[in-house]
Amino acid sequence: MEISEIQQNLLRKLPSVDYMLEIVKTDEFFIDIPKSVIVDSIRRTIENVRNQIINKSGDITEKEISGILEITKIIESVKNIAFNILDPNLKRIVNATGVVVHTNLGRSLISSDAIEQLTLISSRYSNLEFNLETGKRGSRYSAVDEVICEITGAEASMVVNNNAAAVLLCLETISAGKEVIVSRGELVEIGGSFRIPDVMAKSGGILKEVGSTNRTHVRDYEGAIDNETGLLLKVHTSNYSIVGFTASVSLKDLVTLGKRYHIPVMEDLGSGTFIDFSRYGLVKEPTVQESVQAGVDIITFSGDKLLGGPQAGIIVGKKRIIDEIKKNPLTRALRIDKMTLAALENTLKLYRDEEKALNKIPTLKMLTMPFNVIEAKADQLGKMLESINDPRLEVMLLDLSSKTGGGSLPIMDLPSKCVGIRIRGMSANVIEKFMRNNMPPVIGRIEDDIFIMDLRTIQEDELSIIEKSIDCILKKG
Ligand SMILES: *Cc1c(COP(=O)(O)O)cnc(C)c1O
Repeated sequence: MEISEIQQNLLRKLPSVDYMLEIVKTDEFFIDIPKSVIVDSIRRTIENVRNQIINKSGDITEKEISGILEITKIIESVKNIAFNILDPNLKRIVNATGVVVHTNLGRSLISSDAIEQLTLISSRYSNLEFNLETGKRGSRYSAVDEVICEITGAEASMVVNNNAAAVLLCLETISAGKEVIVSRGELVEIGGSFRIPDVMAKSGGILKEVGSTNRTHVRDYEGAIDNETGLLLKVHTSNYSIVGFTASVSLKDLVTLGKRYHIPVMEDLGSGTFIDFSRYGLVKEPTVQESVQAGVDIITFSGDKLLGGPQAGIIVGKKRIIDEIKKNPLTRALRIDKMTLAALENTLKLYRDEEKALNKIPTLKMLTMPFNVIEAKADQLGKMLESINDPRLEVMLLDLSSKTGGGSLPIMDLPSKCVGIRIRGMSANVIEKFMRNNMPPVIGRIEDDIFIMDLRTIQEDELSIIEKSIDCILKKG
């Protein structure tokens, strides 16, 4: 592109980095900002202005674009860039999707009690691996072992970084170099490239598929057992379900078969819950206690799905096998960190009193939230938005459903109350983008060109954030 004389003139007038550095010195905004960030922001601003000048068409008048060089505008831009550089990349957001255990949005919220404990343990020294009775080295797993066994009824337990790690570690310990029998209907893929066949390959186990996608019988497992068999594995199909002409082998039958042939039985429960959700009007998910009772040798599940704790993988089962797992050198690579451990201990202990757990663990609270409570929140948000009093804004209360998410309670929709937004002259896509770029971002969904926010996953103190952002979009739009 040819550059006109006017443009060349303007380019010559671009301030230098040194000049800008002198100017911003006197601005309070920059006092606590590292010099490297200021210099970077100035450079990027000057580059932007340069591009603006170059990209203007040649016949534009000097007056029309000289505003670009206004020093207050340039300083404003430096501030914006510096602010964005300093703003954390991992941000708090408002989850208006209605998906309670949303893997992309951080899965479970940690209860405030657990946060307190987490803060204390991470800001002070702790007995992480120190036995206060003997004064000698201790085990980090002892912080949660007792309570896990108490709640689940298991002989022994072990915790690692996440459930994927738990599955890998168990398979590697029990069945490396041996055959692992799995039903074809259970070779699941969880989001983020966790696939049972791939994890199996990495663990050194040899996958032996039995049955068909929709039907697997005890005789299928039995027919596949030979001298090479090291494990019978059952995987909870937590993010889908096979309906219609189906058959799968019950845990009890699988355990009986394993006992008869002296082959251990493992179950990857995926989500894992200590609570029978059917008692609260939700679809029944198998509980960890039921699997322990059925006599399964080794069970793995997540800490941050239905359990509502921090990211972790929990392994429970027979002491003999857990002891082997603890000796596996892989445990060091997959080990749980102290912040997680602090939050996990606190979360697990809430389960000693189910009512308390339902009340204090945000994931459980949101899942079992009575419809009228959600409705009241929706009414409140609706009124707040109505009071903005802008004729372009249309606010609707909608009966829709939320999802459990996180590969749990696969086909269940939870009836919920949503607030829908339409703004005259603005598409739902534009609203969605604006809300997503809000500080903090508000993540909702679009249906029929309406921007929809589900009140189940919106916290009480987040209503005003939404009100402000809608107000802001109307002022700008
Ligand atoms: C979610 C899930 C996993 C992985 O658990 P993470 O805690 O996310 O590592 C493994 N297996 C099943 C069946 C799952 O649902």
